[in-house]
Amino acid sequence: MSFFPEKNRRLTLAMLAWLAVAPFATAKEKPAAARPLDLRAEPMVEVAAVCPSIVIELRYATARNVTGGPIYPPNARCLLRRSVALRLKKAQEELQTHNVGLKIWDAYRPAWAQQILWDAIKNPEYVGEPARGGSLHTFGAGVDVTLVDAKGREMPMPTDFDDFSPAAGRIYRGKDPVVAANLLTLQRAMVHAGFWTLRDEWWHFVSEDVKNFAAIDSALAPEPKP
Ligand SMILES: [Zn+2]
Repeated sequence: MSFFPEKNRRLTLAMLAWLAVAPFATAKEKPAAARPLDLRAEPMVEVAAVCPSIVIELRYATARNVTGGPIYPPNARCLLRRSVALRLKKAQEELQTHNVGLKIWDAYRPAWAQQILWDAIKNPEYVGEPARGGSLHTFGAGVDVTLVDAKGREMPMPTDFDDFSPAAGRIYRGKDPVVAANLLTLQRAMVHAGFWTLRDEWWHFVSEDVKNFAAIDSALAPEPKP
């Protein structure tokens, strides 16, 4: 036995179903999560403006890199895509709860700088060949970082920057427990913030959103050449 005739009962059930979904969706609007991300035109930002506590030392603006000379001009800015800089801020905030922080060695790398680096090294294991897509640094989605203490001093890590040797792998095979702990602290914070690690370079991290980016239009980041 029912309180509703068959036809009315069907109508009531249909109304209940509509009420259940009505607050969450309309015919014209899809939920935000269903839209594919398109970050190809996401703006570049200065990391110093997004997270001033991160130490910045662009090694390619100095002679302390694998080429032995500066590639960037001395006034080069440290730039990343906005969402990537925000991920880095998240990692920095986690690290600060352990009284340590990030130092950036390289971030956005203009295509012309990638060409100079490739011409100097010509080893695709360590440097992306421009003709084969170059580097995710030129997408503004890759960043090279190390760990510093509360006073901004670099902490012991497996190798120096641009050490293109097996010792630079993301899995530490040395015997120093301090280095092992420091590397793990850095990797945990970066992975929690949404970065991937790289097998051959412990200092290199890439935003997990990288497939949604493309190489930077030079108009987005008109960096001066030396
Ligand atoms: Zn890198």
